[in-house]
Amino acid sequence: MANSMHVKKGDTVKVLSGKDKGKQGKVLRSVPAKQRVVVEKVNMIKKAMRPTQQNPQGGITTMEAPIHVSNVMLVCPKCSTPTRVSHKRDENGRKVRVCKKCNKDID
Ligand SMILES: [Zn+2]
Repeated sequence: MANSMHVKKGDTVKVLSGKDKGKQGKVLRSVPAKQRVVVEKVNMIKKAMRPTQQNPQGGITTMEAPIHVSNVMLVCPKCSTPTRVSHKRDENGRKVRVCKKCNKDID
């Protein structure tokens, strides 16, 4: 599948490169079309906000910018280790990810 990624929303991932290398965070959003993910507190950028009704002054806010999925590794929820995953189909034909460290199904 062209757009399938090894991580998805709600996963915990470890950052492998860039200024936030070594950090772990939760995937807030995935952008499969661009092979990018938005990770909580990772790759924070400053962004100018237009004035809105809630915030009439506008101003500068910080927010997460997407990073390429190749720069993160899934942290296995079963063994808490950053790992590669393999894919298999379960008994119902559903695609599941399997941790290469502990061999447990991840979802
Ligand atoms: Zn594991």
